[in-house]
Amino acid sequence: MDYLINTPIEYLKGVGAERGNALRMEAEIDKLWDLLNYFPFRYVDRSSYVRIIDLPVHEGQSVQLKGRIIGVREIGTGRGKRLQASFQDESGVIDLVWFKGAKWVKDKLTPGVLFRVYGKPTRYSSSWNIAHPEITPFQNISHEKGLQAIYNSTEKLTKKGLHSKGIEKLSYNLASNITGKIPEILPQELVQQYNLISREEAYKYIHIPRNFEDVKRAQLRIKFEELFILQLELFLRKNANIKKAGGYYFEKTGEYFDAFYKNHIPFELTDAQKRVTKEIRRDLRSGNQMNRLLQGDVGSGKTLVAVLAMLFGIGNDFQSALMAPTEILAQQHFKTIEELLSPLNIKVALLTGSTKKSERKVLFQALADGEINILIGTHALLEPTVKFQNLGLVVIDEQHRFGVAQRAKLWRKNEKPPHILVMTATPIPRTLAMTFYGDLDVSVIDELPPGRKPITTLHYFEKSRLKVFQLIKEEIALGRQIYIVYPLIQESETMDYKNLMEGYEAISRAFPRPDYQISIVHGQMKPEDKAFEMEQFAKGNTQIMVATTVIEVGVNVPNASLMVIESAERFGLSQLHQLRGRVGRGAEKSYCILMTGEKLSQEGKKRLQTMVATNDGFKIAEVDLEIRGPGDIMGTQQSGILNLRLADLARDGQLVSAARQAAREILTEDPLLQKNKHYLLREELKRHLKSKPNWSKIS
Ligand code: ADP
Ligand code: MG
Repeated sequence: MDYLINTPIEYLKGVGAERGNALRMEAEIDKLWDLLNYFPFRYVDRSSYVRIIDLPVHEGQSVQLKGRIIGVREIGTGRGKRLQASFQDESGVIDLVWFKGAKWVKDKLTPGVLFRVYGKPTRYSSSWNIAHPEITPFQNISHEKGLQAIYNSTEKLTKKGLHSKGIEKLSYNLASNITGKIPEILPQELVQQYNLISREEAYKYIHIPRNFEDVKRAQLRIKFEELFILQLELFLRKNANIKKAGGYYFEKTGEYFDAFYKNHIPFELTDAQKRVTKEIRRDLRSGNQMNRLLQGDVGSGKTLVAVLAMLFGIGNDFQSALMAPTEILAQQHFKTIEELLSPLNIKVALLTGSTKKSERKVLFQALADGEINILIGTHALLEPTVKFQNLGLVVIDEQHRFGVAQRAKLWRKNEKPPHILVMTATPIPRTLAMTFYGDLDVSVIDELPPGRKPITTLHYFEKSRLKVFQLIKEEIALGRQIYIVYPLIQESETMDYKNLMEGYEAISRAFPRPDYQISIVHGQMKPEDKAFEMEQFAKGNTQIMVATTVIEVGVNVPNASLMVIESAERFGLSQLHQLRGRVGRGAEKSYCILMTGEKLSQEGKKRLQTMVATNDGFKIAEVDLEIRGPGDIMGTQQSGILNLRLADLARDGQLVSAARQAAREILTEDPLLQKNKHYLLREELKRHLKSKPNWSKIS
């Protein structure tokens, strides 16, 4: 193993200094081991040949033919110049065509020699041809084998002869000489339990498979190991945090919680809210720092749970903070929470980017003196200038954008790190949560408050606009309110603004004063103007709210029963789901209308179909993961964590669960992997941590 890990790639037969450099620069292949970990991205079945008469076998797919050249000619002039060869097998003739490199190819095309040809046939009038096929004399095919591995290459690598085939040759040489060099690192029980092939076999067959069964088993083994190591890292880090940090001990439920729960809580908690509150309570008096993720669909009542948690803090003489992703949402939380807690003697304050300097000064003083019990705000809370007297709990109402590193900033706000509760508005697929939030405990609110009616979602094309306007009128006539939302995508802000304004004008014409009052909110408005317009709508003074996605999160107007989303094909799934969650908050039946143009991409169609089919945020999140992949969902900052080589969090969900389970079990038995039998596993883990410098800093 050491030999593979430590030997520079230059030393491999067929590499040398120049190619070694290219491999290092272009593919991060530094040592032999790196080449072994440079996996093929697909395999081609080279064991069978297609007869020309049977073309096409699968439309658009490459095929392999066996035959002889019966004639070569150059045709055309200038740019149309090309080399054409007639290739014949026992069933028919096909043309092979080259537009570039013709001379070099021509010398190779000896008539009469038996060739293997590989490429994608296209129909050309009544016959077939293959442009730029791979063509190899049969006698030169060194290792006749079932499957050929195809590797990624780059222009620079190709120049050094390291196109896919060149890399294949190197990998072939290396992988056929690893016998006895790759010891098993997984505990034998695991290998048996999951019916895995050995590590050595896996590295051999991933490069030199005899058939697709080999490929499958090699990939399974490598994926499992990859996920297993990742989960071990997460658990070890979590355990280390718990040990190192300790946590504030919230001994009692406290007078504030008791008074609120008994006399002022506006409604009976759902069973899910009760359960989750208990889980939080248990954490807070465990003596360890809480790191809990609270998942719950839009409208499931996370805010109230957060308030209860903060009351525990205040009752134990600690301050609490709540951080929201946008200014509007911070304001809204501030308003809601101040109102909820007004019967109690609790001071709630708001800090955002637009808090004035003079106000800040007063606020910071009050915060440092402990006069403020709850501070609500945006990312502004994270600034080092924001100093608490005794911060005990932070709630993060996040939009998927708050990773491990940012959480760590909060830990420095008091002597011991405060308890942390992360709330996610859009459910995250389980597999992703297990990985991205693997260091957190998870609570789920899987129940909506009673009396909610499911939202009916409809998809209309532009041509049905009049019908949609009619629906709007009917809802308003019933005394309800309407959102009309326009996309906002940063790259084309001016265009979006134009769309919004045009839309606003069209709507103003269709819904004229004085019968109708319309509010408008968008990102280019001053915060106080936004707040004013929101207020007008919330009070029912306006019936229609025209807005960009600034209203995406958290806005709560229960009387709004219809959400129209313009250019819905331009929104992502989780965003659509968030937006839709703005209606269906009152007792009335609610609707969401997705307006789109006629032309839709495959993905766009799938998004719309999903929205129409279900209100279940978890299902939507799964589809989202399938469409976009994990990197996109969690944001690029976190991509390092998700940098998996073979495993795919969207497709390998079961494997993620299995690996997590296995990791948990092994650490229960041997918390620091100190037993002899885990020696190699521990070494492997160490190597991993070394290659992820950001991680070790965080924990
Ligand atoms: P989210 O989980 O999306 O943040 P909110 O906390 O904003 O949801 O709650 C959505 C709405 O449900 C709010 O109007 C809130 O007052 C209401 N609500 C919360 N809990 C309950 C409950 N137990 N019974 C009835 N209504 C509730
Ligand atoms: Mg919320």
